[in-house]
Amino acid sequence: MSKRIALIAHDQKKDDLISFAQDNKAILEKYELVATGTTGKRLIEETNLDVIRMASGPLGGDQQIGAQVTSGHLNAVIFLRDPLTAQPHEPDVSALLRVCDVHDIPLATNKSTAQLILLSFQQLK
Ligand code: PGA
Repeated sequence: MSKRIALIAHDQKKDDLISFAQDNKAILEKYELVATGTTGKRLIEETNLDVIRMASGPLGGDQQIGAQVTSGHLNAVIFLRDPLTAQPHEPDVSALLRVCDVHDIPLATNKSTAQLILLSFQQLK
């Protein structure tokens, strides 16, 4: 079964995630991709990747992705967080990071770690 990866970026990090996805398109297109609403919309429009969109983060998209981690349906979460701006849905953000740790699911909160996760998935296949 193909691996499933979640992609999320806070507003100040969305440009970074788009460029990361463009740079890694050849790798990412081998996986099933899930994203929060606005991140997913931009990924589809700007990278042409196939992405399953959840609700927007502030409307519960982070929780939808957390639920997929809990039910064993995600193999990695790439969540480019903005550490400098307060997020109105911070409790949901923390909850998502927490379930990744509970279930030992690889979680990248910056581009360097995200790159390492993709590289190791390539080697593990
Ligand atoms: P968004 O959600 O992709 O819908 O903006 C991301 C977030 O803020 O958690």
